[in-house]
Amino acid sequence: MHRTVVIGAGIAGLSTAYFLQKLEGKEADYLLLESSGHLGGKITTHAGDGFLVEGGPDSFLTQKRAALDLCLELGLGDQLIGSNQSSTASTYVLNKGRLHPMPEGMMLMAPTMMLPVLRSRLISWPGKLRLGLEIFVGRNTSDPDESLGSFVRRRLGSEMLEKIAGPLMAGIHSGDPDSLSLRSTFPMFVELEAKHRSLVLGMMRRKKAQASASAGASAAKPAPAGHTSMFTTLRGGVQQLPDALVSRLASERIRLNCPVHSLIRKGDPARGGGYTVTLASGASVAAENVVFATPAYVTAEILERLDPVLSYNLRKIHYVSTATVSLAFRRSEVTCALSGFGFIVPRSEGRRINACSWSSNKFGHRAPADSVLLRVFIGGVFAEDLAEQDEDALIEVARQELREILGITATPILARAYRWRKSVPQYNIGHGVLVQEIEREIANHPGLYLAGAAYHGSGIPECIQRGAETAAKIHHGGPLPHRAGPQTAHDPSPVALEAPSSS
Ligand SMILES: Cc1cc2nc3c(=O)[nH]c(=O)nc-3n(C[C@H](O)[C@H](O)[C@H](O)COP(=O)(O)OP(=O)(O)OC[C@H]3O[C@@H](n4cnc5c(N)ncnc54)[C@H](O)[C@@H]3O)c2cc1C
Repeated sequence: MHRTVVIGAGIAGLSTAYFLQKLEGKEADYLLLESSGHLGGKITTHAGDGFLVEGGPDSFLTQKRAALDLCLELGLGDQLIGSNQSSTASTYVLNKGRLHPMPEGMMLMAPTMMLPVLRSRLISWPGKLRLGLEIFVGRNTSDPDESLGSFVRRRLGSEMLEKIAGPLMAGIHSGDPDSLSLRSTFPMFVELEAKHRSLVLGMMRRKKAQASASAGASAAKPAPAGHTSMFTTLRGGVQQLPDALVSRLASERIRLNCPVHSLIRKGDPARGGGYTVTLASGASVAAENVVFATPAYVTAEILERLDPVLSYNLRKIHYVSTATVSLAFRRSEVTCALSGFGFIVPRSEGRRINACSWSSNKFGHRAPADSVLLRVFIGGVFAEDLAEQDEDALIEVARQELREILGITATPILARAYRWRKSVPQYNIGHGVLVQEIEREIANHPGLYLAGAAYHGSGIPECIQRGAETAAKIHHGGPLPHRAGPQTAHDPSPVALEAPSSS
């Protein structure tokens, strides 16, 4: 009998195993079971011919400290790199077939400066007028779990939703703004409205406060390179993080190509009876504790026999399919000016891509100097069938769209597509309550734990944080605490969330 079995070796499962080993030292008795032959789950970097292609995440936020702290702890401090500074607008928006710079000072979907929005050709005059009225809009008092779409429409107007917030959300959550829960995806905006009433005024005050705090902090102690950027990555790609975790784990405690099929109770768990984990091969493993670091629908399947009600609730967390296509071209063959980090595509444009990130502009070390690397995002809740096509078809869609939008007719010198079937959990309206219900139910099974992107945030930092908390609970004994507070999903946008600000 193992003390702990961790199912799934994405960043959540690897972090759980790492923190368990850190807490228990040589005594640590865990087994990490992974269905595929890859360690890192959605984190996957391909390096070759001077290019560095990210199939899944390309960066993580440093405001949420867990990923940054883990990198430092693992000795990756000198590998951290921030996004390049862009002297021009960092993000563009496709509008009526043309790329318009995102107004300066946009922070996620809300402006922190009004003048650039007023000057922007992206937003019409009626749209600007409606945005200006935001400071008079009252607080939400009627809907405790408002959708993101309703919030943006109510506060900033329909045009801001259609042209900025909607496509940004499609990039981040691959979801429908009218279904996504504001509280579960961007609790920060719920708090800003509660505190300042006006989002615009709240954002301006927040920005001012942050600027004076960071001026004070950097005067006291300058931040090391790579730590100050909102988006941070690793010189050799995000895969360096799971690789570093794996290098600290005992190799005999990791089993690849080992899908878990089901789980049943072994005896009375209150008396340390534990569980029997059955593998797809038919073999079984006994464990006192089991951590599910798998997508919620996989966890549901494994738990079906043990607790059908819990399974039913886990299946209510809906997932959508997405895909990324990376294309590299010789710089001399790309005639359009690729300044900034990329562009987002509103649905009203009727295109087959959601966004395009200019990877070689965004971060250093992604492509040789004479080449450019672009990454196209396809799929999401409104176009799952597009994302589920085979790799060749995905590459063809990306090439056609770039030809029509950017006029790139050259043959790519590199083309790689990654399909992410049912990969992005949707934090829809009711997500917070559903997760609380799921956690109440799992607490009926001592020794079972849920980690991973489905519950309290899908970003890399949140997955690591949850892994650390799970390991601590196992070490000290007892269930994970219920979190009544807001959940958060991952924030990094495919292109950029913040246009550079001159102030
Ligand atoms: C295209 C894309 C871009 C993203 N960009 C960013 C970004 O820039 N920044 C950011 O912070 N986040 C980003 N995210 C989100 C983030 O990458 C994920 O939420 C996070 O990596 C999920 O980690 P996880 O460990 O919870 O799950 P996963 O990485 O999905 O790992 C789960 C593991 O469980 C395994 N498994 C499944 N079934 C079984 C079974 N039956 N038995 C055993 N093992 C099983 C899987 O093979 C997998 O390895 C992005 C996601 C995608 C898809």
